[in-house]
Formats: sequence, C-alpha cells, structure tokens
Amino acid sequence: MGHFCYYCGKSKPNEAFSGKGHRRHLCRVCHSIPAAEREESELWGRLHDLMDQSNISKKNIIWLKSLLKHSNQSIQMHAQLILHVAEVAPFRKKRYQIIADSSGELMQLCVDAGLLYEPDFDCGADPSSDEGYDENNVPF
Ligand SMILES: [Zn+2]
Repeated sequence: MGHFCYYCGKSKPNEAFSGKGHRRHLCRVCHSIPAAEREESELWGRLHDLMDQSNISKKNIIWLKSLLKHSNQSIQMHAQLILHVAEVAPFRKKRYQIIADSSGELMQLCVDAGLLYEPDFDCGADPSSDEGYDENNVPF
C-alpha cells in the first residue's frame, strides 16, 4: 500500500515517503523542495481557486487580508487584486461584465495576473466562422 503525496498528487509506495507520522503525506521528492516554495505554490493554487468559486466569502476575504502581509510581494499583490475583485464583483456570475463595466483597469490587472482571461470582445476582429464557411461550401 502506498500513499498519495498531497503536494504532487502522485501515488507512491511507502518507501517514497519519509516515514514519519505526518498528517499529510509528502513524498521525498517534494520534501526536498524548500518549505517556503511549497507554501507559496499552495497559496497560488488557493488564490486561483477563489476566482473559480461561485462567490468570494467573508472568510476568504479575511484570509486574503492576512496575505497582504505576506513576504512574497507577488502574493501580496494578487491578494490585493482579488480583494478588489471581491469588492466589485464577489459573485462569479457576470463577474467579467461587472468588472469590465466598472473598471477597465482592474480588468486588465486581472488579465495580466492570469486571474481572468482576456474577454472575447478583444478578439472580435477575427470571429471563428469556420462552421458557417463549411456550410456554405458543401460541394454537393
Ligand atoms: Zn510529491
């Protein structure tokens, strides 16, 4: 019987783990990654998950505020950005539209940070009309 490493998510045999009774299993490979780096990587995952949630809760906001003191400036910046998003559009539904309408700057910051994708209207000049094209060019 092996374990799943909580960090890389891989199932590995017992001998791949350090053997100490950890609450969460961490394989030796991941164990060699500096703890600060692992922590940051987990934070990134959680930050991005927040944007996928249907809403950003009060609890999430408390957590985000705690990150404003994080030693990693990039994490601070992202937490700040998501706090701003939570203020403007806490619900995922229509978030794009609300942010785009209320603050083009926030929209751009989110896109730059990889928290939101470039809205469709930016590539409107090149509509994918392949289907229509095919339809009109059926040889028989
Ligand atoms: Zn691992």
